[in-house]
Amino acid sequence: MHLLIPAAGSGRRMKAGKNKLLINLNGEALLYWTVRSAFLSKKISWVGIIGQPHDKSQIINSLKNFSNKVNWIDGGDTRQESVRNGINNLPNDANKVLIHDGARCLIKPELIDKCSNELEMNDAIILAIKVTDTIKVVNEYQFIKETPNRNFLWAAQTPQGFSVQKLKKAHQKALDNNWSVTDDASLFERLNWEVKIIEGSSTNIKITSPIDLKIASLFLNKD
Ligand code: C5P
Repeated sequence: MHLLIPAAGSGRRMKAGKNKLLINLNGEALLYWTVRSAFLSKKISWVGIIGQPHDKSQIINSLKNFSNKVNWIDGGDTRQESVRNGINNLPNDANKVLIHDGARCLIKPELIDKCSNELEMNDAIILAIKVTDTIKVVNEYQFIKETPNRNFLWAAQTPQGFSVQKLKKAHQKALDNNWSVTDDASLFERLNWEVKIIEGSSTNIKITSPIDLKIASLFLNKD
């Protein structure tokens, strides 16, 4: 299975003054832990790292023993553009592809395997967890409009996995219609293409702000 890792963000919310994936976490770069899990997965045979050209040497060096096992792809201004570059640079024999955010460094190799197995049987899958908070939809003045039934709410994570041919088509439609989305499953939804949810894990958090780094450090210490 092919795996793309978007790692071309700027990490503005982390306020670290650099790509958050290069921040030191338990002695290694944050991205090292994500890539390590990818290589510990039994199902992944090809890994593409999508990064900003100006981060390239630092990112590659930070991956230590995995440095010469990854394939570099230049990223874009948005996650959507980065993923588009990623799928356009997959090897020709890639039939299905998993996409996993570099920022989710606590992903367990077993969960990547589970996604891979499900993707072999489906054209589109995403990892997600049931929402435990009550979610409010608000208007632009921050007054509540409605409270959706929690039984139907799931929080999306990555990996997300797709048929390469369909994902390319979906990204082209997005370009043609000026759609801008924060995950790839959203493109399939807009096209009324089915996406299957696979139950993820509450520890598979996306490192966004400094508190997430502290949580990640504790969980990495535990393993
Ligand atoms: O900013 P956020 O954490 O939501 O980004 C999700 C993932 O997408 C991160 O791993 C980030 O590095 C990646 N990304 C990217 N290209 C961008 C913006 C974000 O690959 N232009």
